[in-house]
Amino acid sequence: MVHRSHLMELPRKILIGEDVLRKIGDFIEAPRSATVVVASGTNVQERVREAVGSSLQRSTRWVVVSHSDMANVHAVMKASRRAHCIIGLGGGKSVDVGKLAASKLGIPFFSVPTSASHDGIASPFASISDTKRHYSIKAKPPVGILADVEVISAAPTRLFAAGCGDLVSKLTAVKDWQLGHEATGEYYGGYAANLALMSAHVVIDGAPALGVGGLTAVRDLVEALISTGVAAGIAGSSRPCSGSEHLFSHSLDAICPGKGLHGEQCGIGTIMMAKLQGLDWRAVRSALKRVGAPTRASQIGIEEDEVVRALLGAEAIRPDRYTILSVAQLDRPSASPLLPRLPAEEE
Ligand code: ZN
Repeated sequence: MVHRSHLMELPRKILIGEDVLRKIGDFIEAPRSATVVVASGTNVQERVREAVGSSLQRSTRWVVVSHSDMANVHAVMKASRRAHCIIGLGGGKSVDVGKLAASKLGIPFFSVPTSASHDGIASPFASISDTKRHYSIKAKPPVGILADVEVISAAPTRLFAAGCGDLVSKLTAVKDWQLGHEATGEYYGGYAANLALMSAHVVIDGAPALGVGGLTAVRDLVEALISTGVAAGIAGSSRPCSGSEHLFSHSLDAICPGKGLHGEQCGIGTIMMAKLQGLDWRAVRSALKRVGAPTRASQIGIEEDEVVRALLGAEAIRPDRYTILSVAQLDRPSASPLLPRLPAEEE
C-alpha cells in the first residue's frame, strides 16, 4: 500500500467566551509599533469598531470588505503592505477575504467572527465568488480565532440558523467522502471524518437545546463550527466539510444569487442528499426546523424550478469531486422527488 502524505495546518490558539473582544490587542501578540489591518464590513464597523480600536492600541488600517471576491482580496492586500497581520472581523466575507489576503502576503491572520453562520471561521479555505463562479481556495488557516459569544449572540437569529445548516451538512459531506474513497481510492481520514460528524450531531442530536438560543447555544454552535474547520485542516482538504450539498448550494448561487444564505442552502441540500444517500433525512429536517432554519427553498424565496436546475447543475460545479451526484446522475424525473415539500406530504 502506498502511504501518501499531506500537510495538516491548524490554528494555534482560540479564545472563546464572553466579553473577549476587548482582549484582541493582547491576543494578536504584535509589537506596539506594528501596523495592523482590520478587514470588515460597514455594519460590523459600526457595531464594534470602537471596542476593537481601543483594545488594539496600534496603528490600524480599516478596510471595508463589500464582497468575497478577488477585487476585495487585492484591496486588502494593498492596504496590508508592511503590516504585521490582518484581522478578519465580521461574518463570512471579511474572514474569507482577510484569510486569503494574509495567506498570499505570508503574514498572520486572525479570525474574529461576529456571527456564526458558516464554518470558514477556522478552516484553511477561503470561499470566493465572482460573477459566474463560486469556489474555495486553499489558504493558510487563521493563526488565532477570537470568538466573543456576546457579540455573536447579538447577530440576527437567521445567521445562527444558517450556521446550524452548515453544520448538519457534514453528515452528507462525510458520506460523499466515503463514496469517493471507495470509488476512486482517494485519501479518506477517519479521524477528520468523525470530527466533522461530531459537529453535525451537535445540531442533529442537540437541536432542542440549540433552539432555545442564548449564550450557551451560541457557544456550542461556534465551537462546533471551529471544530469542522479544524477537521478540514487535519484532512488537508475541504472533503469532511463540503460534499454534494455544498455543490447544490454553489449551483443555487449561480442560478439565483443572494436569495439564500450559504448555510441555509446547505441545510436544504443536506435533506435532499441524505435522501439520495439513504441516510436519515427526516432527522436532519426536524433538527433544522427546531433551530429555526429553513427546510424548504420556498421559505427563502427560491422557486422549485430553481432548485431542480441547481440539482441538475450541481455535479458540473466540481466534476473532480466524487459524490452521490456522480452515482445518481440526476435528470428532471429523478431530481423532482428529492425536493422537500410541505411536511404533510412527507409524513
Ligand atoms: Zn459550508
